Order: sequence, then C-alpha cells, then structure tokens
Amino acid sequence: MTMNRRTFNRKLAQGVVATTLIGNMSLAYGLSDQKNKKLGIALVGLGGYSRGQLAPGLEHAEHCYLAGIVTGTPSKEKVWMDRYGIPKANVYNYENFDDIANNDSIDIVYVVLPNSMHAEFCIRAAKAGKHVICEKPMAISVAECDAIINACEKAGVKLSVGYRMQSDPYTNEIKRYVKEKTFGDVKYVSSDAAYNSRGYPGQWRLNKKLAGGGALLNMGVYAIQSNIYGAGQNPISVAAQEFSTRPEYFKDTDETITAQMKFPNGAIGNMMTSHNVNANRLFVSFTRGWAELNPCHSYGPLAGRNSRGEAIKFPHRSQQMIQMDDFAKHILTGSTNFAPGEMGKRDMIIAEAIYRSIKEGGKTIPLNLGEMGIVRV
Ligand code: NAD
Repeated sequence: MTMNRRTFNRKLAQGVVATTLIGNMSLAYGLSDQKNKKLGIALVGLGGYSRGQLAPGLEHAEHCYLAGIVTGTPSKEKVWMDRYGIPKANVYNYENFDDIANNDSIDIVYVVLPNSMHAEFCIRAAKAGKHVICEKPMAISVAECDAIINACEKAGVKLSVGYRMQSDPYTNEIKRYVKEKTFGDVKYVSSDAAYNSRGYPGQWRLNKKLAGGGALLNMGVYAIQSNIYGAGQNPISVAAQEFSTRPEYFKDTDETITAQMKFPNGAIGNMMTSHNVNANRLFVSFTRGWAELNPCHSYGPLAGRNSRGEAIKFPHRSQQMIQMDDFAKHILTGSTNFAPGEMGKRDMIIAEAIYRSIKEGGKTIPLNLGEMGIVRV
C-alpha cells in the first residue's frame, strides 16, 4: 500500500481511513509515528503577528513546527529562512502559492493576512489539500465564512480560526465556572476589548476595503467571544451603538462600539470595543459570586480573581503555541477542535447584526444561532 503523507492526512481528516487501511498504513507509514510526528505549518503573511507571536510560539510547540513561509515581500525570504532553518523549497509567494499542493512537508497553511484576504488564501489552501488556520476575524462577511467552510469541507481538510483565547487556561477556567455552576447561574457578563490606536492613519486596519470594518472586526470579536463563553450560550438578540470622537483619524472604519446581548438562560451581556480606548477585561456575575479577568484578551501573562478572594493564576505559556498544538493534535488524533470554522462564522453573523443594529438606530436584532460554534468539552 503506498500513500503519501498528504493523502494520508486528508483521509484521516475525512475519517475515511478504514481500520484495516489504518492497520496497513501503520505498517508502511507508522500510525504511532503519525500521531507523534510534528505537522509542518506554513505561515502566509509575515507581518507583526507572524513575526512577533506565531513563529516564536512554533519554536516551542510539541506537535507542529514552522516548515514554510508565503510572502509577498522577497526581502523577507532569506531573513526567515536563516532565522528558522526553512529550506528554499518551502518558500512561496502569493502567485506560486498554489504549488504548495505538491509539497508534502507542509500539512497546515496558516493565513495571517489583512482580513479581506483571508477568504481567498484559505480557499486556495484548502484546494491545495492543506489543513487551514484562518486568523481572526475569519473573513469580512458571513458569505465569505461560508465559502471558506465549504471549500474545506469539499477538500476534506480541517479548519480552525486563530482564536488563541479558546485554548487559554484563563478562558477555560471561566468556562469551567459556568459549566460547573461554581458560583451559581450566570446573570450578567461584561467584556471590553479595545486599544488606543495612534499609529499611521494609512494602516490597513483603518481601511475598510482591507479590514472589512474597524474596532468591531479587530478587537470586537474578542468581546463577542468572551460574552459568549462568559454566558455559556449564544445570544438570542443584540442591540448596538456606535461612538465617534476622532472622525479625522477614523475616516473609514468604526472607532467605538457598545452592544448588549440577551441570552436564552436569562443572562444579559454588555460589550465594548474600540480603537480609541484602552480596555481589556471580562467580568461575569453569577447568582452567588463573580469572576473577573483583567487583562483578559492580550497575549499574557493574564490575571484574574473571583468573589472568594482567590487569584485565577496559571503559569504563563505562549497562547499561540498552545492554540497551534491543539489544532495539530485535532488533526492527528481527532481531539477537540476548540475554534472550528462555525465559531468564526457565528461571530461574523453577530458582527453583521451589530452593524445592522447601528444602522437602524440601535434596534434590537434577533439572532437564531442555536448551538452554532459552541464547543462543549
Ligand atoms: P501586519 O500589518 O503586521 O501584517 C500584514 C501582513 O500582510 C504583512 O506581512 C503584509 O506585507 C501582508 N500584506 C499583504 N497584502 C497586503 C496589503 N494589501 N496591505 C497590507 N498588508 C498586506 O498585520 P498583523 O497584525 O500581522 O495581522 C494579520 C492578521 O492577523 C489580521 O487578520 C489580524 O486580525 C490577525 N491578528 C490576530 C491576532 C490574534 O491575537 N489572534 C493578533 C494580531 C493580528
């Protein structure tokens, strides 16, 4: 039986590797090797996040490593090859990227480009037979999220969104309080995810065509996420307001947005996101106490406490390393995908409802999400 690693990975992801086939393959390829080996990740886009967080995180990962790069800037190639020992054969640009289909040392493509480019590159990666990690926000519309999900399903590859907080121990401690009712039932959740942008006004994050939106699609997705895991459910409605205090700087994108959500369990959610305010916290009020993370959405070390006077504290580890390891394990062993594509799509449905509410003067927009994107472990 001959089957290359790429085909085997794809079959494994599709769940179509029959037991006997696994038996045969494990002789030829070694299933325990498959589970123990590190998956090769190619980063697409070598900007601040890839350089500052993802590549360093991969240096210490257990189940994946930095195998390749895709860049539109030729001068970065040699710097990255030398720094991370990447062979020339694993270096691509945006034009020849599709040739990655023929490269067996790349298992996962991680798209870290401006938001409006996510859909194109995730779809191309899926068509090349690679598993996909798509940075947040997943895309700039629900329709694009659907296109990414469909492409991955069609290609039989796994898909995850770069929601590092979903693998983070602090986030998981709040989820545990909610699930185990440590402090009773959730009554109220409040989350803020914001920073004060003073940088170059021509940056892509302030350009609607490239970013798809402003603070809401950048930091706001974190506030949406923490409202949801804080409540333990998806919202059934949302109403929102927009504030603009520096219109000369935020010419094209939203500056500050507040939104209120209702949850089926009766909890109320409140969120704020901004490119003009520094705020980074989550507060959950339960019937018999409360819990708070502050800082909550940054790279760490994070900090938290609860109404018993206990500190919420974990050893600091790279969130990105844990996130990418979790996804690699998911591919290799079928363990939980903590940030599936449906979660990214759900958040985009909520973001679109928030924009619609603002447009309609703060009207309450009903949502019909059911359990979409909720990962219960
Ligand atoms: P960045 O501006 O630092 O890098 C963007 C990269 O895209 C650069 O390498 C640039 O050369 C390339 N690029 C290609 N076409 C471009 C174009 N037309 N305009 C501008 N740049 C172009 O951005 P970043 O901070 O690395 O963000 C990239 C993605 O990662 C975004 O989707 C962002 O939301 C996401 N991100 C996620 C986190 C997180 O915590 N999960 C943190 C930062 C960024």
